[in-house]
Amino acid sequence: MEQRILLAGNWKMHKGPKEALSFLGDLDKALELEKTITEAIVSKKIELALFPPFISIPTFCDFNHKMIKWGGQNAHWEEKGAFTGEVSIPMLLELGCSYVILGHSERRHIFGETDEMVSKKLTAALDHGLSPVLCVGETLDERNGGKALSVIRRQLLSALEGVDSTKAAQIVVAYEPVWAIGTGRTASDADAQEACNFVRGLFVERCGQNIASGIRVLYGGSVSPKNAAGLLRQPDIDGALIGGASLSVESYIGIIKEALSVL
Ligand code: PEP
Repeated sequence: MEQRILLAGNWKMHKGPKEALSFLGDLDKALELEKTITEAIVSKKIELALFPPFISIPTFCDFNHKMIKWGGQNAHWEEKGAFTGEVSIPMLLELGCSYVILGHSERRHIFGETDEMVSKKLTAALDHGLSPVLCVGETLDERNGGKALSVIRRQLLSALEGVDSTKAAQIVVAYEPVWAIGTGRTASDADAQEACNFVRGLFVERCGQNIASGIRVLYGGSVSPKNAAGLLRQPDIDGALIGGASLSVESYIGIIKEALSVL
């Protein structure tokens, strides 16, 4: 199968509906001028997905750009109920979402999400047919203590608890070392490859070789047009989860062009 690079932009708590609309208009104009990018999207070599705050998802839904997918940055595992401030997976599907980010390190470390909560969310997303982008990754202390791979193992296997292997094929995993997120410090190409290869190996163990080879594993953590090509050239890295650099059309397009150069 041709390599299909997923370039996922996590906007975090940036861009309300007005700014989202203006970004989409600018991105549309930029894509109009970049035929090689649109050809790569049409031929499924590259896939673009943006993750705006919940309140800006209707803007994506109304704009309905055929070259851009979108998703939520989080979701609750229940379909509805007394969960003030939460959004459910069927609600995201109603707004045309293709993906949902689950277990982002900011959810785990700032909002106290546990492995168990991430696992319930993952199961709910798969049950509803919404592809999860499951984030895993170690803190700096854990890396310095030689625990990076065991943390990834714990986070991934606990998220997959009870998940049927055939459904697991829909999962995208983002390896995001916590110390690299928003810091300008990126994992080396070799360290990122080692972790992403380890993730794929866990899928082999858990779901078999066939499923594991089809799973997309992304790297996330200060990805920019400067470092994207080196990371995307690694055999087990199938794309990037991009925070800061997805907030400007120029840097997002810059990363897309780097991805084209490695195809
Ligand atoms: C992220 O939010 O998942 C992320 C990787 O952010 P940044 O690219 O800004 O480090």
